[in-house]
Amino acid sequence: MNNRDDIVEKLKSSGVTPTTQRVEIAQILFARPQHLSAEQILEMANEGSSTASKATVYNTLGLFAKKGLVKEVIVDPSKVFYDSNVSRHFHFFNTDTGMLTDIPVDAINFDKLPELPEGTESSSLEVIVRIKNS
Ligand SMILES: [Zn+2]
Repeated sequence: MNNRDDIVEKLKSSGVTPTTQRVEIAQILFARPQHLSAEQILEMANEGSSTASKATVYNTLGLFAKKGLVKEVIVDPSKVFYDSNVSRHFHFFNTDTGMLTDIPVDAINFDKLPELPEGTESSSLEVIVRIKNS
């Protein structure tokens, strides 16, 4: 999705006011299914004529994640990726290349999961398989 009008609609239908900078950041994210760090998005946002501050980019990404427009993939506290594919899937993280790639949901089988503690409900199940080059 790259059309500006479509992006504006997508933001509106998720309850996000489409400011110029939010639309710009959304255009970067939704150009294709991809995993981008906040730093990469900041860099790409500032390639054009306008300049987005670091705070704006981080706040916008936080808002998009809260509204379900992107998925936050937290590899470790210092490494967060924003995934434009919000359908259910898992990830490989290559510690040598720093690359995050998708694992389709049906490629993993869960035979046994623990019973949830009383008074709780499951909100997500994330799998990150850490790999390194052999
Ligand atoms: Zn992904």
